[in-house]
Amino acid sequence: MADNTAVAERALADRVLHRVDDLRDELVDTISRAVRIPSVNPKYPGQVYDDVVGGEGEVAKLMAEVYASVGAEVDLFAIEPGRENAVGTIRGAGGGRSLIYNGHVDVVPPGDAANWRSGDPFSGRVDDDRIWGRGSTDMKSGILAQAFAARALRDCDVRLAGDLILQSVVGEEVMDHECGVTAAVERGYKADAAVVSEPSAPPSPLAVIPVSPGLLWFSVTVVGKASHSCMRGQTIRAGGAGPAVGVNAIDKGVLIFEGLRRLEEEWGQTKRHPLFAPGHFTIHPGVITGGPHGVLVPFVISEFTTIEYCVWYSPDDDPEDVKREIEAHVARVAQTDSWLREHPPAIEWKLNWPANRPDAGEITEATLAAHEAAAAGSRFAGRPDVAGFAAVEDATFLTLGGTPAISYGPGDLRVAHADDEYVLIDEVVCAAKTFAVLAMSWCGLEEG
Ligand SMILES: [Zn+2]
Repeated sequence: MADNTAVAERALADRVLHRVDDLRDELVDTISRAVRIPSVNPKYPGQVYDDVVGGEGEVAKLMAEVYASVGAEVDLFAIEPGRENAVGTIRGAGGGRSLIYNGHVDVVPPGDAANWRSGDPFSGRVDDDRIWGRGSTDMKSGILAQAFAARALRDCDVRLAGDLILQSVVGEEVMDHECGVTAAVERGYKADAAVVSEPSAPPSPLAVIPVSPGLLWFSVTVVGKASHSCMRGQTIRAGGAGPAVGVNAIDKGVLIFEGLRRLEEEWGQTKRHPLFAPGHFTIHPGVITGGPHGVLVPFVISEFTTIEYCVWYSPDDDPEDVKREIEAHVARVAQTDSWLREHPPAIEWKLNWPANRPDAGEITEATLAAHEAAAAGSRFAGRPDVAGFAAVEDATFLTLGGTPAISYGPGDLRVAHADDEYVLIDEVVCAAKTFAVLAMSWCGLEEG
C-alpha cells in the first residue's frame, strides 16, 4: 500500500511540474506586468514620500488578484495608505504543517534612466531568456514564482493538508518591517516554517539560504579646533604652537578611519562563519563629511569629521558585543593621540538590522530535497549550495515573529539594485517548481 501511495504521489508531482512548464508564458507575462508598476519604496532615502507612495499597493493588488485566482482567501491591509500588503491563505484539509511563502513588492529607485540600456528601468521587457527591469530579480519574480506554484497545485487538483500562506509585503528595502512583514506577523500570520523568495545568488543560482548576517549602521564624529588655514604649519610642524592654535578634525578623523581599517583587516581572519565566504564580515566606511562648521571651504582648519559606517556581522555574533568591540577599539585608537584623549570621538548607533538565525534544519532539508526533485533534468539539477545570504532581508522578522524562515529564490543580488536589472526565466520556472513540490512535501496531502 505504502508503495502504491509513493508511486501515486510521484505521478502527481510530475503532473504539477509539467503544469508549471505549461504556465511559463503566463508566469513571465505576469512578472513583466508587475515590473511595469514602479513600486519604489517611498521611504527610500532621497525620495519624496507623497510623490512616490502607492506603487507598492498597486503591486500588492495585482498579487491579490493572482492569489484570488488560485482559490486563496485574500487579505489586503495597510498600515500606511497606498502601501497595502497582500496575503492569500489556502486552507489545508487539516493535519499537515503550515507554510508561509513571503516576498516584498517594494523596489529601490532605478537611478538615472539614461544608464539603462533600454532607457526605461520599468520596461518589463521580455527577451528569450530573461525579463528586464527594476524589481525583476529583487523580487517580483520570486513572489510570482511562489504564487504560480500554488496555481499549478490548484490546476492539478492538489489539496494540501496544511495551510499555505502567500505573502507580498511592502517596506523591505528600508527595514520598514512594521509596515510590511511584521504587520503581517502581528495580524496573526504564523506558520511552522517560511521561505522568503529573495534572490539566492551569489554564491550560486537557487542556493538554499538558512541564515543572513546582521547589519549595523553607526557614525563616529571627531572635533577639531578652527583657525585660519594659513596656521596649518603652526599646527603640524615640530616646534609649532600645535593645538594652542588649531587642530584639524580631518587629520584626527583619518586616525579613526585607519584604526577601524585595521580592525576590519583583523576581522578578515577572526570573524568566520561556515556559510559565508572568508572575509565577508566588514566595517564599511560609506560616507565621510568634514570641514569647518558652516560653509565647506578649505580656508579654515576643520572643526569636525563624521564617518558613517555599515557593519556586516556574523549571525553567530551578538550585536551588543559587536558594538562594544568597535567602541573599545575606537577608544584605544583615541588613547594614542593627545587631542583625541581629551576630545574623545562620539559614536552614534543608528540602526541594527538583526541577523537571521532560525532553528530551520527541517525546512532547509525539505527545500533542498524539493529543489532536487524539481530541477531534475535541468541545468539546475543536483543538490543546491547551502549558503548565508550576502545582505539582510525580511526572513529575520518572520523568524523573530515565531516562524522559522529561510530564503530561496530566482535572481542574483549582483544585478539587484543595479542598472539593467534582469532575471533569468529558467531560474524563475525552476523556483516555481521547487515551491510547488515543497508545498506538497511540507504541508502534506489531503488524506484519501
Ligand atoms: Zn529584496
